[in-house]
Amino acid sequence: MPTTSSNKPYRVGRSKTGLGLFATKPIKKGTRIVRYFGPILDSRIPEQDDIENKYLFELNGRWTIDGSVRKNLARYINHSCRPNAESDVRPRERKVYIRAIKNIEPGDEINYDYGTDYFKAYLKPIGCKCESCEKKRKKLRAEARAERAKVKARAERKAEKATGKAPAAKKKKLNGKHFGGKVGRSRA
Ligand SMILES: [Zn+2]
Repeated sequence: MPTTSSNKPYRVGRSKTGLGLFATKPIKKGTRIVRYFGPILDSRIPEQDDIENKYLFELNGRWTIDGSVRKNLARYINHSCRPNAESDVRPRERKVYIRAIKNIEPGDEINYDYGTDYFKAYLKPIGCKCESCEKKRKKLRAEARAERAKVKARAERKAEKATGKAPAAKKKKLNGKHFGGKVGRSRA
């Protein structure tokens, strides 16, 4: 009997930032891809609340999923600011599903937006490495390069004009000499 894992439309693979989850089959927009699961932690039990890892998925003010368990393959899904999936959070059922919000092609990395709190705590300090942010950074770098080139060209034009004005500067000197002559030192 083939293992059920071969029926799954995804696999763990190498991504830009380590490991990621990649589609192995076409996944239609709206499809539930995988469940994000793990032990449920109760924030009212203080010793459980001490657990600190980046796989915690808060369901609501009280319940949190500890997604660090090995079998939870959804923990490999990386964040993206322009994702192709989303987390479908069901606090009442204490369940989270990752659902496609676009048609996903085989080979595509599956991403969802981790949300503002996670972004601020973990991604902003090191710089988000998602494709959308990388593209933005590339664009900004290109713009900065273009701006520097423009400034340089302007400076060069100015320098050219300045050398063009050189005769005017000489004239000034001549004027000075002329002025000196007017004082009549030579006369004296
Ligand atoms: Zn990003």
